[in-house]
Amino acid sequence: MENEPTQSSEPTKECLMPACDREPEIRGICTQCYQSTSRMVRNGKANWPELEARGLVLPAAPGKPPTPARQAIEDLTAPGPIDHQADHQATEPSR
Ligand SMILES: [Zn+2]
Repeated sequence: MENEPTQSSEPTKECLMPACDREPEIRGICTQCYQSTSRMVRNGKANWPELEARGLVLPAAPGKPPTPARQAIEDLTAPGPIDHQADHQATEPSR
């Protein structure tokens, strides 16, 4: 059969970025667009709230775990390991 039915019941199954028809993975865009977009955001050439307002991306789904890339950034900005051992040996019980 070469007669394809129109898929009107299907939700948007295309990347929201113009001239891209890949399957959306994150924020309504495909992984390739997401990577290039997040790079632009990191370089200050774009920002997520503005892209959301323009309808180019969807807001990050709440309740979802952070992406590995975001987790890596948070690890970089997090303070280094605190030395707990020095604090432990400070108090010595003596009677
Ligand atoms: Zn795309």
